[in-house]
Amino acid sequence: MTTDRVFNFSPGPAILPLSVLEHAQKELLALPGIGMSVMEIGHRTKPFDAIMTETRQLLTELLGIPAGYTLLFLQGGASLQFSMLPMNFLRGTGKTADYILTGTWGTKGKEEAEKEGKVNVAWDGKADNYSYLPTESDLKLSSDAAYVHVTSNETIQGVQFQSDPKFGSAPLVCDASSDFMCRPLDFAKYDILYACAQKNAGIAGVTVVILKNEMLERCAKGLPSTLDYKLIAKNDSLYNTPPVFAIYMLMLVCRWLKNDMGGLAKMEAHNRKKAQLLYDVIDRSEGFYRGHARPDCRSLMNVTFRLPNEEVEGKFVSEAKTHKLVDLKGHRSVGGIRASIYNAMPIEGVETLAQYMTDFAKKNR
Ligand code: PMP
Repeated sequence: MTTDRVFNFSPGPAILPLSVLEHAQKELLALPGIGMSVMEIGHRTKPFDAIMTETRQLLTELLGIPAGYTLLFLQGGASLQFSMLPMNFLRGTGKTADYILTGTWGTKGKEEAEKEGKVNVAWDGKADNYSYLPTESDLKLSSDAAYVHVTSNETIQGVQFQSDPKFGSAPLVCDASSDFMCRPLDFAKYDILYACAQKNAGIAGVTVVILKNEMLERCAKGLPSTLDYKLIAKNDSLYNTPPVFAIYMLMLVCRWLKNDMGGLAKMEAHNRKKAQLLYDVIDRSEGFYRGHARPDCRSLMNVTFRLPNEEVEGKFVSEAKTHKLVDLKGHRSVGGIRASIYNAMPIEGVETLAQYMTDFAKKNR
């Protein structure tokens, strides 16, 4: 069975570690000692409580989350966070929320916030098709913002802040959906960090939201219960039935990160090595491959580049499949190629792609 697997460069849902899939397969019919699948047991039972507890502990340890934060498991994807954040922290405050628009996802977040209150676009990279990121002096921050929203990695454009993007003094909210746990963070800089799981942390269905406890005191009153962070926190993410299988998969991915990869510092070193292989081919191709992101903003997770024309790009994508390299087509808004090389992509996959790129350039110049 496993020999049929391809190298999957999908932006998400994305590749999972093989050992995680095998583990889940082994336990699918019955969790050891329980005699039932994780999908069949109540969410308020002891066995499921053990899964939630271990997942929380692993995330706290891997990310170095200090005391004073609350970790929630929510549904609705990262997109629901685009709405919940301004509902909870902008609605009724009379304040402004600052948004830093570094690509498609930051912009979507801003559009949802505008439905709830005043929004200030502190920076917008649209004129350059979101190919680079701002520094603090480029930003027009509000004096008393409800919060500042950033996207640490723009999945579609392939631009990533090279270190923790802490700007201004307002609470910092970070959408880390596509680079979650790809490197260590200085967690104390974040007031809220959120990520959907289906790129670097498991499967679609669960979104991790980590908030400073002070933020919970600021939640707007009278929100629908399932959209109220404070209420969900009070109920330990069990206000209603959580996405049990997705949380279990998140736990297995966290175990893999800790035990097999050796934690986030080692994961980062591995990710750097993988990304460098592809960026080196781009830089040595004498213009055959043109990277979308400015070199100092390049993503470790989503490598975006163009070829001489769309016809050659089509050929690149279809011939790649004969090397078991799949899902390389870029998003239509950027065009070209996007190789998503999340944590679980083995180095062999990236080496195969790098070799394919080198050979393809020689033949199609
Ligand atoms: N933010 C970022 C950075 C993303 O990459 C995505 C998904 N591609 C989203 C938000 C939206 O996530 P979801 O589909 O889980 O709502």
